[in-house]
Amino acid sequence: MAATPDKPAPAASRRKTGRHRGEGQWAVGHLTPLNANEQTKKDDDGLNVRTRIETIYAHRGFDSIDGADLRGRMRWWGLYTQRKPGIDGGKTAILEPEELDDRYFMLRVRIDGGRLTTRQLRVVGEISQEFARGTADITDRQNVQYHWIRIEDVPEIWRRLEAVGLSTAEACGDTPRVVLGSPVAGIAADEIIDGTPAIDEILRRIVGNKDFSNLPRKFKSAISGSPLLDVAHEINDIAFVGVNHPEHGPGFDLWVGGGLSTNPKIGVRLGAWVPLDEVPDVYEGVISVFRDYGYRRLRNRARLKFLVADWGAEKFRQVLEDQYLLRKLVDGPAPERPEQEWRDHVGVHRQKDGRFYVGFAPRVGRVDGTILTKIADLAEAHGSGRVRTTAEQKMLVLDVEADRVDSLVEGLESLDLRVTPSPFRRGTMACTGIEFCKLAIVETKARGASLIDELERRIPEFDQPITININGCPNACARIQVADIGLKGQLVLDDEGRQVEGYQVHLGGALGLDPGFGRKVRGLKVTSDGLPDYVERVLRRFQEQREDGERFAT
Ligand code: SF4
Repeated sequence: MAATPDKPAPAASRRKTGRHRGEGQWAVGHLTPLNANEQTKKDDDGLNVRTRIETIYAHRGFDSIDGADLRGRMRWWGLYTQRKPGIDGGKTAILEPEELDDRYFMLRVRIDGGRLTTRQLRVVGEISQEFARGTADITDRQNVQYHWIRIEDVPEIWRRLEAVGLSTAEACGDTPRVVLGSPVAGIAADEIIDGTPAIDEILRRIVGNKDFSNLPRKFKSAISGSPLLDVAHEINDIAFVGVNHPEHGPGFDLWVGGGLSTNPKIGVRLGAWVPLDEVPDVYEGVISVFRDYGYRRLRNRARLKFLVADWGAEKFRQVLEDQYLLRKLVDGPAPERPEQEWRDHVGVHRQKDGRFYVGFAPRVGRVDGTILTKIADLAEAHGSGRVRTTAEQKMLVLDVEADRVDSLVEGLESLDLRVTPSPFRRGTMACTGIEFCKLAIVETKARGASLIDELERRIPEFDQPITININGCPNACARIQVADIGLKGQLVLDDEGRQVEGYQVHLGGALGLDPGFGRKVRGLKVTSDGLPDYVERVLRRFQEQREDGERFAT
C-alpha cells in the first residue's frame, strides 16, 4: 500500500489512526503540506534536481541555482552548501541561512555496507585531490564526505564515481540513507550471518525509487550479522541484528525507532526473527509505515522514533504485519552480549578463510585524497583489493596473507594510520564542526585530534576502552549521548567572563546491550582550551576509583 499526496491510503487505514490527523500523516488522509519542507517535496521530487544540475546549474554556475533546490532538493544527491569560512560560532543562530552559505558544497558519497574496492578507493582519492582540495572524511556512517565542491564539477564527479559503481544518490535528504553493514561481513570467523545479499537487494529495490524518495525525514538503517554489534543498531530507524534462532537458525532480530539528536531514543526490538531472504521485504514494510504514518507536521517530530514511541512495539509490529507484509513475523530471540567492547575491528584479525584483516584508525576519521590513494596502493599490494569503512570512522584492509601482515601494518603506521592505536585514538570521534558545517558553534575535528595527542602524552598508561565523542552543536552527528564522555559544542564563559568556544559535558552514555544516554553534568561546561585538563582529570579519577571489570559507563 503506497499512500502519496496523489494517492491516498485505503479508507480502512485512515480510520484506524484518525486521532493522529494533526501530525500530517499521509495514511490518515492528511495530504496537504503543513510546512515549507513538505511543500518543496510535493512541488517536485528531490531526485529530479539531478537533471537541473546537469543541464543548467553546472553550466551557469552557483547563482543560477533555484533557492528551493539549493537548500532542499540538492540533498537528494548528497549536496549541502558548506559554511562560509570565517564566521564564528556566535553568529550561527543569528544569521539567516543564506548568510552562512558558502558557494561551495559538501558532497557525501554513500558506501553501503562500508564496501570499497581499491579501484573505487583510488577514484574517491583522485576526486578528492582534483575537485575537493584534498578533503575526504570517513564518517561514522561509513560514508566519505568531500568539501569545497563547485557545482560546475558535480556532473564530472558523478561520472567518475558511477563508472566504478559508487553513488551520491539519496546520501542526504528525507530519503533512505546509506545502509550500514558489518565491515567484516562474509569474512569474520565469528560471524552469525552475512547480511550482504539483503543490503544489495535493498539498494536495488529502494534507493532511487520514487515510491520512497519523499519520506517525513531521513531513514537510517543498519544490517549486521557480527556478534560484535558493529553498526550502532541501537540508534538507527531500522536495524537487523544477527541472531541464532533456536529452531530456525541464523537470521536477524528486528529493531526500529532508534535515533539521537534532540529527544534521543534507543531503538526497540519488535521481538521478530527475520530470515535473510525476507530482510528486504521487512525493510520495505517498515519504510512504508514510516512514509505513510510518519509525522510530517513538525520536522523535529518527523523521525520514525516518535511514531514508535507513541505506538509502542506491539502496535508497530501489528500494523507492519497486517497492512504491509500481509503475514505474521516469527518470534525470535534478542542478540547475545558481545564478548568485547570495541566494535571497530581495529587491529589484526584472522578471517574464516585463514587470511587476515587489518583495521586501522585515522584521527577522528580525517584522511585526505593522497592518503586514500596510498591506502589503495597498500591494499592492492597486500590484499585482494577489498577495503572497508566502519561505523566508528575507521577503515579495514581485507584478505591479507599471514606473511604479508607485518609489511601492511608497517605501511599503514608510516602513514600515521594506527593498527594498534591508543584507546584515545581508537575511541574519539568528531563531527564536521565549524570548519564546514552551517549549524556548528565550535571546532571539532582539529580539537579532537589535539585532544588525542594530549591524552596520549599525559596518560600513556591508560588502557581501558573509552569513547569520547565531540559534536559542534546540539545535534548528534558524532553520537555524544551514547559516549562515555560526550562533548556538546556551545559557547561558554571563561574565567574572565568572556564568551568562548566550549562544551557541555555528558558522562556515562553507552551502546551495546546495556545502552543508555550520558548524564548531562549540570552546570559542567568546559572551555575548549580547558578540555584536555578536564578529560585527563575524569580519566585519572576513573582509573583510581574503578573496581575490577568496571566500565566507564557503569
Ligand atoms: Fe554540524 Fe552539529 Fe552535526 Fe556537528 S553535530 S556536523 S556541528 S549539525
